[in-house]
Amino acid sequence: MTVLSKFRALRDEHAAVAAAGRDPFGVSFDAVLSATEAVLGGRRILLLGTNNYLGLTFDPDCIEAAAAAVQDQGTGTTGSRIANGTYDGHAALEGRLAAFLKRRSAMVYTTGYQANLGALSTIAGKGDHLLLDADSHASIYDGARLGHAQVTRFRHNDPDDLRRRLRILSSQPGEKLIVAEGIYSMLGDTAPLREMVEVKREAGAWLLVDEAHSLGVLGESGRGLAEAEGVEGDVDFVVGTFSKSLGAIGGFLASDLDGFDALRLSARPYMFTASLPPAVIASVMQAIEVLEARPELRDRLRRNGQHLHEGLAAAGFALGAMPGPIISLAMPDRETAVMFWNGLLAEGVYSNLALGPATPGGKPLLRMSVSAALTPAQIDTAVNAITRTGYAMGLLSVPLAAE
Ligand code: PMP
Repeated sequence: MTVLSKFRALRDEHAAVAAAGRDPFGVSFDAVLSATEAVLGGRRILLLGTNNYLGLTFDPDCIEAAAAAVQDQGTGTTGSRIANGTYDGHAALEGRLAAFLKRRSAMVYTTGYQANLGALSTIAGKGDHLLLDADSHASIYDGARLGHAQVTRFRHNDPDDLRRRLRILSSQPGEKLIVAEGIYSMLGDTAPLREMVEVKREAGAWLLVDEAHSLGVLGESGRGLAEAEGVEGDVDFVVGTFSKSLGAIGGFLASDLDGFDALRLSARPYMFTASLPPAVIASVMQAIEVLEARPELRDRLRRNGQHLHEGLAAAGFALGAMPGPIISLAMPDRETAVMFWNGLLAEGVYSNLALGPATPGGKPLLRMSVSAALTPAQIDTAVNAITRTGYAMGLLSVPLAAE
């Protein structure tokens, strides 16, 4: 027995998953060729499981900005934002983000995960209440655990359940902060923000929306679901990440509320970690320019999502959410899910295998996501590969021969 013996069951489970073919949780690309292609095991594959929604990881202007910054300012800051880790680029990016989001203030974190840790653990303090959607991302749950507010979960995307729970809490003192996500990462569904805003107003609560998957994706200007739904005035805090549509790494919190800067002296995941390196700051700064200057990328992303959705629906797959950048296929069981993921990879298509407890209801999923950088021909290739795999796994019935 060692201190790691408690992981035996997890190790056994993982070994069983990995034994079915390639280890889905240990993929290491030999090379990444572009936003849509990589080399894995010596084979060229199509990337249909990234968060590279606008395809900006290889944008030449972002690369040039990052290269210039690393030359000029070095590889890292070696310090926290509140010590030696704030350069003029960090402050400039915060100003740029605030302007883009039409918010008074923004603070940049080293990851989106940390942005949620920092926001949830400080905005709602001791004696306050956090109301979390049951399908919230791990960073939201972890942020709640890091802080001292009382946590109440409401049923996923269910404003009536939220209302019920806020009524139960109405006699209790303390502020109430509701947390929702623009697009949920596992199923690709969006939050019913307009109804949630009504509930928020009735209860005198506050609202934080994590636009991690919807920034640069939804809304006329790419500000996210709140913009698309016309409710930005009722969203008190916006969280987002640079690791998806902006093609880099990092996260942010933005708001219009007075006193925002106090969070810089109280959010531990902001204070006690090193800040983003200059190359990342420069690349994100440039990516925001691209996002604003090229709305056609969002249109292409939308068309690509629709194309994949229509192709899979026509093949006979039952699809849950409306067409969007994320499409997940519900798998009947873990074994089929692992076999499907391997089968699809053998067809030359990389997707994401998602297993419980990280998925809604713990159900196995094959998660796919599109990028604006995918061509229609690549999406057709993917649909054909997924369809062939679906037949091979017995998930699609054999089509009747044409008479
Ligand atoms: N929020 C949500 C909803 C996410 O899906 C993710 C990442 N998957 C994050 C936050 C964390 O983002 P990051 O990768 O920047 O840590």
